[in-house]
Amino acid sequence: MMAQYDVLIVGAGHGGAQAAIALRKNGFAGTIGLVGAELELPYERPPLSKEYLAGEKAFERLLIRQKSFWDQKAIELRLGQAVIAVNPGNRTVGLRDGVTIGFGDLVWAAGGTPRQLQCDGHHLGGLHYMRTRADADALERRLPAAERIVIVGGGYIGLEAAAVMRKLGKAVTLIETADRVLARVAGEPLSRFFERLHRAHGVDIRLNASVNGLVGRQGQIEAVRLADGEMLPADLVIAGVGIVPAVEPLVTAGATASAGGLWVDAGMKTSLDHVYAIGDCAAHSNLHAGHDEPIRLESVQNANDQAVVAARNICGIETFYDARPWFWSHQYDTRLQTIGLAAGFDAMLLRGDPDSGSFSVIYGRGGRVVALDCVNNTKDYVQGRGLVEAGALMSAALADASVPFKALNGADQ
Ligand code: FAD
Repeated sequence: MMAQYDVLIVGAGHGGAQAAIALRKNGFAGTIGLVGAELELPYERPPLSKEYLAGEKAFERLLIRQKSFWDQKAIELRLGQAVIAVNPGNRTVGLRDGVTIGFGDLVWAAGGTPRQLQCDGHHLGGLHYMRTRADADALERRLPAAERIVIVGGGYIGLEAAAVMRKLGKAVTLIETADRVLARVAGEPLSRFFERLHRAHGVDIRLNASVNGLVGRQGQIEAVRLADGEMLPADLVIAGVGIVPAVEPLVTAGATASAGGLWVDAGMKTSLDHVYAIGDCAAHSNLHAGHDEPIRLESVQNANDQAVVAARNICGIETFYDARPWFWSHQYDTRLQTIGLAAGFDAMLLRGDPDSGSFSVIYGRGGRVVALDCVNNTKDYVQGRGLVEAGALMSAALADASVPFKALNGADQ
């Protein structure tokens, strides 16, 4: 007999797990199936490039919930199973192993896969990506024999991996095509701060540089060739150059695509009846972006909050996604906390001295505060939230680090 769930969730990562939890929290009494391509119980991904990779946190501590929780809540886990087709007409999905599962509502929470390097030599052993526990474990197994590590990509994952590799005593070179790290997500002061931080820890950062090929012998990488011809000796390469959203079965089924993901409305509904999408693979119009163009956000906050919205709508509680984005990163002893969306900012204020290791960057759009990056500055993060939430006026006074944000909160709105 064909398995059938009132709600079938595809993807047992942050969004999928949270959707199942939120359904039960909101009183959903129907059957829930949670299908995940990975073998592990749902776990937290951020530590993979931080404490887990550094060997400071055991995998068990990454679990979003223990096995007993899923059993108690009657959430049926179908791990190690991948959905390869969706039939929205008769409301079924097809698994890779040929099994068909029926659904009442479908929540697509499949995240994405790392964008692969396409250069010469990309098939060589020693090229690693960082998305799953299996990726992190495969990398870890190679580390004892690897001294020289080249990291491709100066985004958060590349920088976090670089920090861990330096902690482990490896020689690290980081290659970034832009003229600064974090160029896509942060203002220049933050980029330059992280650049200096990594250089001070011994990372050889190459900006305006791109990989032209991986060169090896007997199937193993031995060097990375840059576009200018320079050869960087390498025992191992870690590429962190973005993700490709996992949306193919739904796009094939006719769902509207947008920004590389699945278009969703403010209730997380796709263009297909009874089909929701959440997390890294969902493209939504974000209230805080300053424009209506759908965007995808890749963060735990976004996956969790969208999951709650989808779950509540399935429970018949009309809910719209309006959460304020937040994010964090951890590199060496430096903690970055971000609130709001800086994209498209037209003004920026630096608060405090980056050389002190603790400072904030304030982003404005249309004269209003829209985002904050706080480096080793939890006080600013906590107190500055209100400024972002209120859309406080950008003013030079905000740059005075001697005046706590809380003294300015609510002023001048
Ligand atoms: P995922 O958590 O990726 O879950 C998707 C799941 O779906 C996966 O398990 C996948 O195997 C499964 N799947 C895919 N296709 C199928 C299919 N066809 N059938 C069945 N299952 C399928 N965010 C932060 O906010 N802060 C951080 O510090 C941070 N650090 C990060 C570090 C790393 C190394 C990585 C990889 C990500 C990090 N992120 C961080 C981003 C954050 O982890 C993601 O935004 C979040 O996991 C997105 O949740 P999701 O549910 O959309 O996708």
